[in-house]
Amino acid sequence: MSRIVVIGAGYVGLTSAACFAHLGHEVRCVDIDQIRIEKIQSGRLPIIEEGLLELVNNGVKSGLLSFSHDVSVVDSFAEMVFLCVPTPQAIDGSADLSFVQKAARHISELMPKDCIVVNKSTVPVGSTKIVELEIQRNDVKVVSNPEFLREGTAVLDFLNPDRIIVGAENFEAAEMVAKLYERLGAPVLITDPASAETIKYASNAFLATKISFVNAVAAICEGVGADVSDVVKGLGFDNRIGKSFLQPGPGWGGSCLPKDTAALIKIGEQNGYDFDLLRGVVAVNEQQFERVVNKTKLALSGELDGKNIAVWGLTFKANTGDMRDSPAIRIINILMNLGAKVSAFDPSVQSIDSELDGVSICQSSLEAVKNAEVLLVLTEWHDFSIVSPNEVRALMLSPNVVDARNLLNKPNWIEAGFNYQGIGR
Ligand code: NAD
Repeated sequence: MSRIVVIGAGYVGLTSAACFAHLGHEVRCVDIDQIRIEKIQSGRLPIIEEGLLELVNNGVKSGLLSFSHDVSVVDSFAEMVFLCVPTPQAIDGSADLSFVQKAARHISELMPKDCIVVNKSTVPVGSTKIVELEIQRNDVKVVSNPEFLREGTAVLDFLNPDRIIVGAENFEAAEMVAKLYERLGAPVLITDPASAETIKYASNAFLATKISFVNAVAAICEGVGADVSDVVKGLGFDNRIGKSFLQPGPGWGGSCLPKDTAALIKIGEQNGYDFDLLRGVVAVNEQQFERVVNKTKLALSGELDGKNIAVWGLTFKANTGDMRDSPAIRIINILMNLGAKVSAFDPSVQSIDSELDGVSICQSSLEAVKNAEVLLVLTEWHDFSIVSPNEVRALMLSPNVVDARNLLNKPNWIEAGFNYQGIGR
């Protein structure tokens, strides 16, 4: 059992803290956001993640997990401090390291002797050195341990990882970090910090590439009259390709892929390599937002100005409350700039976010479609797939649907009289 402090109680920090406690470690989780910590302490979570509340409650009850907004809990307690703070995109596309640097400065004088600092935030190559410079202590070792969990399945992913990556100059420190995960039985790769940091960016860039690739294939399918669902099935049977991340949609988004692809392009630039392939992946994604807008225009004979548009789904994917860099928000903003009026429903969004200024937020799928001339499905929430197309049709002004997630049962919607457009089918 190890004594761990986790800095940051967001998707990665809170999940890591709860899961480490579940694995038998003693964990203190710290966040500068006092309201967030008070919320957690009162038994409510600031994020939606299946199984997380139960793990947090169990951890607190067992005495292995506690929360604080005061970083001094690092004090004499911590054997390891995990940095799980944001690394947002800076104006030039690179990763903004200021949260990581500030957190490192905060803990530097508080940490006991021989403490290990573990960077779990996604950081550019060389960040381990930057954290060492902030900490300025010879006894403290800095280790890179990138996280690969997905929002919506964070607990499941953390406890069933495909691999554990640990990057360190000091092998003993790396082994101590790897040992934390021993009970999970996952393959462990111990490497140098630069390689560990590159693995994380390369993984996300590859996933973004797969999605952009399949969206481009979907466009070809539309041209040649093929069905992308079958094409993807056929592709996925090939073990060299694999079937995951080959679901066509409105484009990729979320808190990681956009900023991590931009950061890797920047890392290339700074190191004398023009990552043209990845630029293409990003460009295909931008085109995908426009393709969804064009399908909406087509349904409305080219005119969006003054039209009522219903949107199902605002989060960047289902089973999360996260709207950061959501394709839905991008598409809605384009539609509104062209004069459309948008009514939206998302099971996890109750009120208006600043990014959604001007959007009418509804409390149900059916409320959103009242008097709409086209319905757009932008997030793949299961609830949307079971709404009756006949009920929807009865409420809409015109029966048009753009199913940007290929979620709906196409024959049923066509039978109900809808002009149906999906992606690549
Ligand atoms: P988040 O925004 O959900 O949470 C970050 C938390 O850190 C916030 O609650 C914030 O208040 C807190 N914080 C900021 N500065 C702090 C400080 N000095 N001391 C204490 N708390 C502080 O972020 P996230 O989604 O968990 O991402 C964290 C890192 O993990 C990022 O680098 C991200 O790229 C990476 N990552 C995210 C995911 C994901 O799916 N969200 C997956 C893998 C890796």
